[in-house]
Amino acid sequence: MTRVDLTVRGAGIFGLSIAWEAARRGARVRVIETTRIGAGASGGLVGAMAPHVPELWNAKKAFQLESLLMAADWWAAVEAASGLPSGYARTGRLQPLPDARAISQAEARGVEAATLWRGQAAWTVIPTRGSPWEPASPTGLLIHDTLTARVNPNAALAALVAGIRAMQGEVTEHDTTDEGPVIWATGIAGLDHLSALLGRPVGSGVKGQAILLAHDARDAPQLFIDGLHVVPHADGTTAIGSTSENRWTDPTGTDAQLDALLARARLALPVLNDAPVIARWAALRPRAASRAPVLGPWPDRPGHFIANGGFKIGFGMAPMVAQTMVDLVLDQRDTIPADFRPELLSASSVQK
Ligand SMILES: Cc1cc2nc3c(=O)[nH]c(=O)nc-3n(C[C@H](O)[C@H](O)[C@H](O)COP(=O)(O)OP(=O)(O)OC[C@H]3O[C@@H](n4cnc5c(N)ncnc54)[C@H](O)[C@@H]3O)c2cc1C
Repeated sequence: MTRVDLTVRGAGIFGLSIAWEAARRGARVRVIETTRIGAGASGGLVGAMAPHVPELWNAKKAFQLESLLMAADWWAAVEAASGLPSGYARTGRLQPLPDARAISQAEARGVEAATLWRGQAAWTVIPTRGSPWEPASPTGLLIHDTLTARVNPNAALAALVAGIRAMQGEVTEHDTTDEGPVIWATGIAGLDHLSALLGRPVGSGVKGQAILLAHDARDAPQLFIDGLHVVPHADGTTAIGSTSENRWTDPTGTDAQLDALLARARLALPVLNDAPVIARWAALRPRAASRAPVLGPWPDRPGHFIANGGFKIGFGMAPMVAQTMVDLVLDQRDTIPADFRPELLSASSVQK
């Protein structure tokens, strides 16, 4: 029988990223997915990887920054091993500035970014140019950051699967035997399971709906307009995300809330008016009670580990989640931020 050093449960962005990282370090990995690859929150349309605002710095923001900074090399390695595109590109992002207060806040954040982002990306205030791919801005000014990137979610998952297999790893959609340490990257099912075990909710699913248009702006920056993400992809599509719903009955159905989102996007960016709709999609984001990722050993269950809580930024954090989990599980090197540790779950309650 083939030796397996590590089993990963769940073929979403967390599970596949961890398995890829372990495989490229020479471990023999097995990924077990019980539904289908990308069946959960990861099999979507948006794939924005945008930084937290550079102020009030904390461990979560620092962790995500490292992930965004390492992403270009990380996705290039996945593409090289798999021979498949991930859709990764660091195309930056524009945001309108509605008033004088927003301008001074943006300028202060630009100063913070100069230090916090270590010269590897910039946050600046720039004038509008009247381009059709520009949000209207009452002040005539925009924030431009050069850190925001994107991947194409389903292409990225396919590239990871092929990369793992190229490194002799297994990815299976049939339930089979766990061998070696087991990392549970099972998204909302994992949070529900932990809640049942602990007898209290340790997380919940926040529904999101998104839409994909046939509009080719592949080299243009992302736009962030009054809570809307407009994300051009390399394949000539543009994604619009996303609703955020704490109450829902159908976790994967789309409805009038998505129509309203699209209408807002078209009002804000008339160049999208005639773009045909290619796909509508919805899923539950796995949100832990802490709103932070949950990474580390499964309390009281030796040999088992948890990687969950990607919430709204699972793709952005994936490279660091993978590095941190593989450091821990294969090299016994524990660099997990204190706020992310699973043992905190038993002491927490769900925030609404
Ligand atoms: C509308 C929407 C828009 C989003 N936009 C962005 C964005 O722009 N940028 C960003 O970074 N993030 C975004 N997110 C969030 C991101 O998608 C999630 O944070 C991320 O997908 C979570 O990944 P995951 O691997 O932890 O979970 P999932 O993708 O849910 O994967 C868990 C997997 O585990 C499987 N599974 C469950 N139980 C078992 C078991 N017992 N054994 C084996 N397998 C099992 C499931 O079938 C599933 O495939 C968005 C989410 C939504 C819904």
